[in-house]
Amino acid sequence: MDVSAATKPNPVTAIHRRLARVTKRYLRHPGFTGDIQNLAFLPLVDIFGSIQKPMANHTHQPPNESRNVLLSKLPREQFESLRPNLQLVDIEPPVVVFEANQPVRHAYFPESGMISVVSIMADGRTIEIGTIGREGVAGGTLLMDVDQVPYRYFTQLKGRANRIEATRFIDFAARSPELRSLVLRYEAAFTTQSMQGAACNGLHTVQQRCCRWLLTARDRCDSDEISLTHEFLAMMLGVRRASVSDVLRPLQESGLVSSNRGLITILNRAGIEAGTCECYRIIADQQRRLLEM
Ligand SMILES: [Zn+2]
Repeated sequence: MDVSAATKPNPVTAIHRRLARVTKRYLRHPGFTGDIQNLAFLPLVDIFGSIQKPMANHTHQPPNESRNVLLSKLPREQFESLRPNLQLVDIEPPVVVFEANQPVRHAYFPESGMISVVSIMADGRTIEIGTIGREGVAGGTLLMDVDQVPYRYFTQLKGRANRIEATRFIDFAARSPELRSLVLRYEAAFTTQSMQGAACNGLHTVQQRCCRWLLTARDRCDSDEISLTHEFLAMMLGVRRASVSDVLRPLQESGLVSSNRGLITILNRAGIEAGTCECYRIIADQQRRLLEM
């Protein structure tokens, strides 16, 4: 009788022990959000190797997963198939992502930061008509055979985005009803954002619109600190640069925000929500419904 077999470690038991250890570590990992479904993202490589540390400023990113809502909702095997086509790029403001009436050559899935869409009038004045953060994609109109629009897309808040060439994006979506559906539902949410924004610009005060913008930016960048100059905020709200101080002053005096050297800090989110109009909630609710966020 070979007694040595009794002393050899059982490889299956060893993997189970290793898996239990890694799972415990994963539950304590700063990238674990508390959602038990995230355990499905536990990559096999982690059973045999170490758990990756999250990147700076990406502390909620599960290992090997995208923080972009659309990409994170893709079935895992499709995301892995799409991944070689994605290029992670820094989006540093103010870089023009798409120029108005120029061909869209890439789609951008933000992981962080924010892209603004602005309308430019003949006299040079601009006003924001929408923002795109990690809940969406810039360039989704490519899936509707639209490769240019009369609006400028530029990076408003610093971050990162997964970029894909337009032709590869269209080809992949033709083979992936899931990606196509996610992008089209996002485009419907973006349409609600711009339609409600048109109503808001016509009927609500600049103070209410400013509060809506701050809440939206806060949702996009997951931080109460929003890096934004008065000049940019004026452009977003479609008001003169000098008017921005008048808009912010009551908010500062009420202790809702502080503003210093290009940094606006939300001090009281509930107060800002009370100061905005119903448009913020209408847009956020529709987005949540369409994207099941
Ligand atoms: Zn409004």
